[in-house]
Amino acid sequence: RRVEAIGNQLSGSSIPAIHKVAPSGPRVAGKVVIVTGANSVLGIGRASAHQFAEHGARAVYLCDYDDSNLEAHKREINSLWPKVDVHTRKFDAADEKAVKEVVDDALARYGRLDVFFANAGIVGPHAVFTDIDADDFMNVLRVNSLSVFLAAKHAAPAMQKTSADKPKPSGSIIATASVAGLRSNAGSTPYSASKAAVVSMAQTVAYQLAGTGVRVNALCPGLIETGMTAVVFDAARARGTDGKIGQLNPLKRAGHADEIARVALFLGSDESSYVNGQAWAVDGGLSAGHPYVR
Ligand code: NAD
Repeated sequence: RRVEAIGNQLSGSSIPAIHKVAPSGPRVAGKVVIVTGANSVLGIGRASAHQFAEHGARAVYLCDYDDSNLEAHKREINSLWPKVDVHTRKFDAADEKAVKEVVDDALARYGRLDVFFANAGIVGPHAVFTDIDADDFMNVLRVNSLSVFLAAKHAAPAMQKTSADKPKPSGSIIATASVAGLRSNAGSTPYSASKAAVVSMAQTVAYQLAGTGVRVNALCPGLIETGMTAVVFDAARARGTDGKIGQLNPLKRAGHADEIARVALFLGSDESSYVNGQAWAVDGGLSAGHPYVR
């Protein structure tokens, strides 16, 4: 009888339809996306540009102050997903004029900006804090934190103008922070400070954008094998100790750029329409508890 009742419920017309927040089909269909820090071959930026292109973006901007690989990345995306417009920009993510220019270009060409993935970053000096120069400290803050402030400052108003085909704008600003910005760690003081600033900024900006339809989230990777960390992995391989990397992680390994890119895709898509002002740790569980050794 219970089985029958459930069957009746399922086929009955009294069951309200699920309120679908995102259309079926390509996950970022028609969206115009800016990705910074996109040059690195192993990097999170390039992997994310692939995710956005694969899942239906109309245009992807590949931006980086090092443009040595940008044209090659563009050709690759063009060959894999020919319908996507790819633009490359040599640009310093902490230069306000450059940030404004790329946002203005998106608005001029497409009349919209949907996703700004502020991902460019550098790692600070790995020295005891007493040995770090003030200039080096400020440089890390400039690249890692000021860049996110500028991205939000210029992307948010542009996203609010993105209302041609939508009742409300649905912009998403994603800033790459780090688990180093969430917890203390033995790494670099300027780096941790710069990433904590990104987390706090994402939360504050999310509140200040209340009611505008623009969401802001910080993405906090754990240890990922990219251009930034290649030196760690290469040295460990040379020593034969690479098997030890990630041993304290519950998943017993470091992460891949694509594993961060897939979360960036989710945060940039309307599927995450109720995710706002959050710091998303994507670290295999490392920051969930106290690492232990068995
Ligand atoms: P990566 O070095 O492979 O890529 C970083 C990219 O940023 C490079 O292409 C670099 O040229 C670019 N860049 C640096 N300064 C710039 C500037 N001023 N303007 C424009 N572009 C600039 O490293 P990644 O790991 O892919 O780094 C992406 C983001 O992820 C960074 O913000 C980094 O701090 C963060 N992150 C990385 C890890 C990790 O383990 N790899 C962990 C946590 C957070």
